Amino acid sequence: MGISFVAVILLWHAWDYAADPSGDKDCSPAAPPVAASGPTINDVSCLNPTPIDSVVSVREVEDIRQAFAVARARGVKVSIAGARHSQGGQAFAARNVVLDMRAFNRMTLDESTRVLTVQSGATWHDIQNRLHPRFAVKAMQSTDVFTVGGSISVNAHGMDHQAGSVGRTVRAMRVMLPDGSMHTVSREQEPELFRLVVGGYGLFGVILDADIEVTDNAVYRSGREIMDYRSFPAFFTDRILHDQTYRLMYGHLSTAPQSYLREMLVYTYQQMRTAVATIPPVGDVSGVRLRRLVFNLSKLGSVSMRMKWWAEKHLEPRLESCPAGESDGGLVSRNHPMHDSVPYLMNRLAGETDILQEYFIPRERFEEFIDGLRRITLANRANLLNASVRVVHREDNFLSYAPEDMFAIVLYLNQTTDERGNPRMAQLTRELIDLTAKTGGRFFLPYQLHYTAAQLRRAYPEIDAFFRAKDKYDPGHVLTNTFYNKYGPLILAQ
Ligand SMILES: Cc1cc2nc3c(=O)[nH]c(=O)nc-3n(C[C@H](O)[C@H](O)[C@H](O)COP(=O)(O)OP(=O)(O)OC[C@H]3O[C@@H](n4cnc5c(N)ncnc54)[C@H](O)[C@@H]3O)c2cc1C
Repeated sequence: MGISFVAVILLWHAWDYAADPSGDKDCSPAAPPVAASGPTINDVSCLNPTPIDSVVSVREVEDIRQAFAVARARGVKVSIAGARHSQGGQAFAARNVVLDMRAFNRMTLDESTRVLTVQSGATWHDIQNRLHPRFAVKAMQSTDVFTVGGSISVNAHGMDHQAGSVGRTVRAMRVMLPDGSMHTVSREQEPELFRLVVGGYGLFGVILDADIEVTDNAVYRSGREIMDYRSFPAFFTDRILHDQTYRLMYGHLSTAPQSYLREMLVYTYQQMRTAVATIPPVGDVSGVRLRRLVFNLSKLGSVSMRMKWWAEKHLEPRLESCPAGESDGGLVSRNHPMHDSVPYLMNRLAGETDILQEYFIPRERFEEFIDGLRRITLANRANLLNASVRVVHREDNFLSYAPEDMFAIVLYLNQTTDERGNPRMAQLTRELIDLTAKTGGRFFLPYQLHYTAAQLRRAYPEIDAFFRAKDKYDPGHVLTNTFYNKYGPLILAQ
C-alpha cells in the first residue's frame, strides 16, 4: 500500500479510529444480532450474541440461592458472569439464567495479616482504589478491568513474575454449590473443590468471596531493554529470575515488519531501597484518544505498524509518566502500572474486532515456539497487533495451563467480522494450538472456541476428569456455559 494512499485513509478515518465506543459494537455479519424476543448477552469480543433466559443482578448471597431455585423450578441452567472479558461465551450459555456478579463487590482489609476479603464481583480497579497508597494487589492480569471471580475462575496471571497466578494468592474462598450449600474451601479444607474452582470456569460453584493476599505498594524503578528474542530466556534466567529486587517484568515482541517477532522490548520494575515521601493517587489512564488512534491505525498495515513499534521504542520512554518521581529515572509505585483499565482498546469501528489468545510454552522451547509463531502468522496473513511475553509458574489447580514453569505468549489479533473473519481465525488458532502441542505447551481456555475436542484433550489430559467431577459437585449439571455445552458432550462421549 503506497504511503499517500495510507495518508488519505488515515485522515478520512482519524475521527473514527480515535473515538470512544458508542453503544454495542457491530460485529455483523459474522455475529448478527440475535432474533430473539427475550434478553440477549454478549462478551467483549462482540462475536457471541446469545439469547438467554434472564439476568439476575446479584447484590446479596440470597439472590444467588433464589436464582438457583428459580432456575430449577423453570428447568433452565445457570451461568456466572463477571466483566465478560472471556471471549468464547464462558460466562453464559443459550437459554440460561445469568448471574451478573458485578454489583456483589464489598471488601474488607485486614492490614495486620495483609489479607483482603472481597466479594467476587469486585474488579481489580475497585480493589486498587481501596488499597492505594499503602497496599497493592499481589497477582492479577496485566490490566485491572476483570472481576475477582472471573480471574480466579481462569487462574489469571500478569506482570508479577514472582507471585505467579491469582490462585496462589487465594488463602480461602466461600463457594455456593448449585444445591444452595455453602463451602469454605482452601488448600487444607475441601482441597479437591478448591482445585476445581480455581481455573474452574464457573462450572462447580459460585465464588462468593475470597481471602486474597495483598502486598506493599512499594516504589519501583522502571527500566526497559531492547534485545533479540533469542537472548530473552538467558536474560531472564541470568538477570531476573534470582534477583528478588525485580518485582514486575514482561516483554513485548515487535509486530512491525522489519523486526517481526525478532526484536523484543523487556520491561522491568526494580524495587528501590529508599522510601519515597508521598505516593500520588492512582488516576485514570491519560491520552486515551491518542493511544486508541495509534493502536487502531496499526491495524491498517505495515507503515502504521512500523510507526507504532517506533513510538513504543523511542517515544514512550520520553512520555512515560513517573508518578513517584524522577521523571527521567522512572520511579513508579506498584499500583501505577497495574492500574490500567485499557479504555483505549474499546472502539466504535464496525466490521472488525480484537481477539486475545495465549500459549504457555516450556521455557527452554521459547525460541522454537516464536519461530513457529512467526511462520504461521505470516502464512495466514494474521493481523497481529501485540505479542507479549510473561512468566508463569507450575500451577497445581485441577485444570492447570502450566504443569511446569513456563513462558506465556499473549497475542492480540485483529479479525474482520465478514464471512471470512471467523474461518480464518479458526484456521490460525488450530495451527497455533498444534504448534503449541509440538513444543510441549498448553493453550489458555478463556478465549474463542475454535479448537477441536482432540486438541483440548491433548493440551489438557485432565479434561475428562474435570468434566466428570461435575457429577460430584453439580450432579444436576445446573452450572453450564458455552464452553461446557460445546466440549462436555464431545469429551464425555469418547
Ligand atoms: C484484553 C484482554 C486482556 C487480558 N489479559 C489477561 C492477562 O493479562 N492475564 C490473564 O491471565 N488473562 C487475561 N485475559 C483473560 C481474562 O483473565 C479472563 O477472560 C477473565 O476471566 C476475565 O475476567 P472477567 O471478570 O471478565 O470474567 P468473565 O469473562 O465474566 O468470566 C470468566 C469465567 O469465570 C466464571 N466466573 C465469573 N465470576 C465467577 C464467580 N463469582 N464464581 C464462579 N465463576 C465465576 C465465568 O462463569 C466464566 O467461566 C485478558 C482478556 C482480555 C479480553
